[in-house]
Amino acid sequence: MLNQLDRKIYVPGEVIFREGDAGDCAYIIEDGQVGIYVGNGAGERQLNLLGKGEMFGEIALIDNQPRTATVRATEKTMLIPIQRKLVEELLEKTNPIVRHLLLLILERYRGNRQVSAAGAATSARPPANGADSPSRSKLRGEATQKLSLAHGITRALANEEFALYYQPICELASGRIAGFEALIRWRHPTDGLIPPMDFLWLAEHTGQIREIGLWTLERACLDWPALRQQTAGYAKPFVSVNLSANQLTGDGFVEEVSALIARHSMPAIELKLELTETVIINNPEQAHDLLNKLSLLGSRLALDDYGTGYSGLDSLQRYPIATMKIDRAFISTMAASPQSREIVRSSIGLAHSLGMDVIAEGIETEDVRNSLLDLNCNLGQGWLFGRPAALDG
Ligand code: C2E
Ligand code: CA
Ligand code: CA
Repeated sequence: MLNQLDRKIYVPGEVIFREGDAGDCAYIIEDGQVGIYVGNGAGERQLNLLGKGEMFGEIALIDNQPRTATVRATEKTMLIPIQRKLVEELLEKTNPIVRHLLLLILERYRGNRQVSAAGAATSARPPANGADSPSRSKLRGEATQKLSLAHGITRALANEEFALYYQPICELASGRIAGFEALIRWRHPTDGLIPPMDFLWLAEHTGQIREIGLWTLERACLDWPALRQQTAGYAKPFVSVNLSANQLTGDGFVEEVSALIARHSMPAIELKLELTETVIINNPEQAHDLLNKLSLLGSRLALDDYGTGYSGLDSLQRYPIATMKIDRAFISTMAASPQSREIVRSSIGLAHSLGMDVIAEGIETEDVRNSLLDLNCNLGQGWLFGRPAALDG
């Protein structure tokens, strides 16, 4: 990061910024010394002297408020300016809880500084009448919302508010159930049933997805004996669990899956793990190692949402993928669009030539089922066969 930061040199007496100037960066003193002053002319008063390794002007990192003091170099000084934009980019990538806390601390610090500066010199700027700048209040509003959702997720884990719904995956020809896909729902005590897309994005961002992911695997293993009975007659029954990118990045994921399988006497081959190309592409080297280990455990991997994203000929060939799931976007438009039909036809051909099973997602009509049978697709899921449902009804 440091190579992105240009150093600036100031001669003794040179002004770095003046009270009232607009500010959009903080400074780290790499060498030398600066003085902090409030007031003008004869009324000017030194508040502080700062040396090597210290930072000043950091309040500008959270808003566009004018500088509340003047800073001058007292000797030859080298400074590293830290632009607000850089800090915002870093904050955007960080955990929203940490970000929110940091914003609160900075705001409080700003409040204290204004009070002490106002007390120290009559000409110091008064606090901005307590009013938020629009950007600051927007940031704080978003942060608070995320913080409360993240808190809700933690509570939901502790209170067992999450539930797995299971959608059947069927043999297209016979209609027999071959397996199930586990799909998470949040049974919120006041907001009702919340779909995964409304909370998983934040759980991925905060890292809570790791705990949710383990809970999901555990729940699916616990439910498998009952589900398995509904697949009677199919040679290779399975339950599929979705994996997210951030779930795989921490240490020990394979070991956790391995321990979980052993704990529940789950036949590894009957646990299918679904992941998208985005998961792989975010971290190709780690994914390679991890997917090989998972497949050595005996679990089978499915490439989810195939055809969207990066269209992974490379993924198909490099990773131990047993099943291709063709995305609903192509299946639902097959009847009307020759291009979609062609994409589905060639994807099925490719998967079969690589020895993979194919699952068509989002089958809603008999017509689509029949077209897929014509194209030699063996498995499918969708409203036609059944919606996701709780095991307990
Ligand atoms: P997905 O893995 O592609 O799951 C299939 C989604 O399509 C499910 O939405 C399912 O309800 C829906 N679907 C199935 N058949 C049909 C159909 O015939 N028509 C239509 N219109 N939709 C159909 P759902 O349950 O809302 O899940 C959305 C996404 O959330 C999933 O997409 C998956 O990416 C993610 N997800 C769900 N559960 C989990 C989980 O436990 N862990 C992780 N990491 N992701 C999950
Ligand atoms: Ca899936
Ligand atoms: Ca999918």
